[in-house]
Amino acid sequence: MNEQKAPISECPHCHSSKGYYTKSQVSGVVYYRHNYDGSEQENDDMHDGLRHDPRKYTYCINCGKRLFKVEEIGG
Ligand SMILES: [Zn+2]
Repeated sequence: MNEQKAPISECPHCHSSKGYYTKSQVSGVVYYRHNYDGSEQENDDMHDGLRHDPRKYTYCINCGKRLFKVEEIGG
């Protein structure tokens, strides 16, 4: 199981094999509930109000340069 496998094994710019990252722009509202005594309530759905807008490209963790498209992951 390796669904996040990249189409490359190192960064073509800096030759680092540290990995890649993807970016998502997130907007929305987070609800974080407390009881009046200060204890936490169930907050499992706290991110349900967020809208994720994933970006198309991946970037090198080491040098930050653009690498490959997200859609190439795991192919
Ligand atoms: Zn790099």
